[in-house]
Amino acid sequence: MALVRIDALHKHFGSNHVLKGIDLDIEEGQVIALIGRSGSGKSTLLRTINGLESFDEGCIEVDGERIHPHETDLRALRQKVGMVFQQFNLFPHLSAGQNVMLATRIVRKMPEAEARELAKAMLLKVGLQDKFDAFPDQLSGGQQQRVAIARALAMQPRVLLCDEITSALDPELVNEVLAVVKDLAAEGMTLIMVTHEMRFAREVGDKLVFMYQGRVHEAGDPREVFANPQTPELAAFIGSIN
Ligand code: ADP
Ligand code: MG
Repeated sequence: MALVRIDALHKHFGSNHVLKGIDLDIEEGQVIALIGRSGSGKSTLLRTINGLESFDEGCIEVDGERIHPHETDLRALRQKVGMVFQQFNLFPHLSAGQNVMLATRIVRKMPEAEARELAKAMLLKVGLQDKFDAFPDQLSGGQQQRVAIARALAMQPRVLLCDEITSALDPELVNEVLAVVKDLAAEGMTLIMVTHEMRFAREVGDKLVFMYQGRVHEAGDPREVFANPQTPELAAFIGSIN
């Protein structure tokens, strides 16, 4: 059984039909690289998967938990789905460790000592074990994004959604963040990643999904899809980013 099942998903913003019947199954441990032009619906798709956006038709199922349109109790879903954004969204007045602990304390109601140990373990996982007490403005963009990843992991999600998590970084900081994602993938984390890093998509992705105007236009093995695009739209997209 797929860990994430998306079935005939439709979403409008007013008269703008943004997701036009998305069907997508994601197996446990799979790394999905989601690509497509700006405005094709990538972020909206991720945001519906973790309940940040409602949808109009279809259904989403995560780890057996079925979400219908207009569902309001999304606590179970949110705990299964972690998300990392382009902007790191760390609380500036909290240390790295406190940022990582916050949701586990509040949402998972974890005792202080346990949350602290977990936060330390998660910071170790992203290579920032010595930055527990550092504040965001004392960290580089790459380090801040790794703290954001540690924060998402502390909720022990079943699937991690990454929305252009390296796009706001200076080029020399991109690789340290991608290396963390690569480690997570190697450990078997299920990942859905919107990315413009095509080399990464090809090397780490198990499946490439190309969105075009609110639809999955092409999908398949990243190497095959890149080598042999079946549609002029994907060929043009690949041409535009190389
Ligand atoms: P992508 O991430 O692929 O660039 P988005 O999912 O952000 O695409 O956007 C898809 C479409 O939905 C665009 O036309 C965008 O303008 C529209 N859209 C996204 N978010 C909102 C919103 N909160 N309100 C209204 N329209 C939105
Ligand atoms: Mg987007």
